[in-house]
Amino acid sequence: MLKNHMEVLVESHLKGLLEHHEHIAACGCCQLDVQAIALNNLKPYYTRTGKGLVFTKMKELDHQFQSDITQALVRAIQMVENNPKHEEDVLCNPYE
Ligand SMILES: [Zn+2]
Repeated sequence: MLKNHMEVLVESHLKGLLEHHEHIAACGCCQLDVQAIALNNLKPYYTRTGKGLVFTKMKELDHQFQSDITQALVRAIQMVENNPKHEEDVLCNPYE
């Protein structure tokens, strides 16, 4: 199996950035839109999945990509806030 570790990093960084963004913090669809935009602007980081490898690797990666990820997320949050898409999606359910 392959895993894009950037997805995990983006998701974990997002939570810390939503303090002053009440709508997005409460709206799972907007959170996914933010993650999608940020991930499209970041390089993917694929590895083969394997036990043991993941945790240490993730810490290194987190450090290496931290500022890129924060920048991409801040920009994505602004874009989603200015132009939220959840209203077009009447059945918006991020958990489906
Ligand atoms: Zn929303």
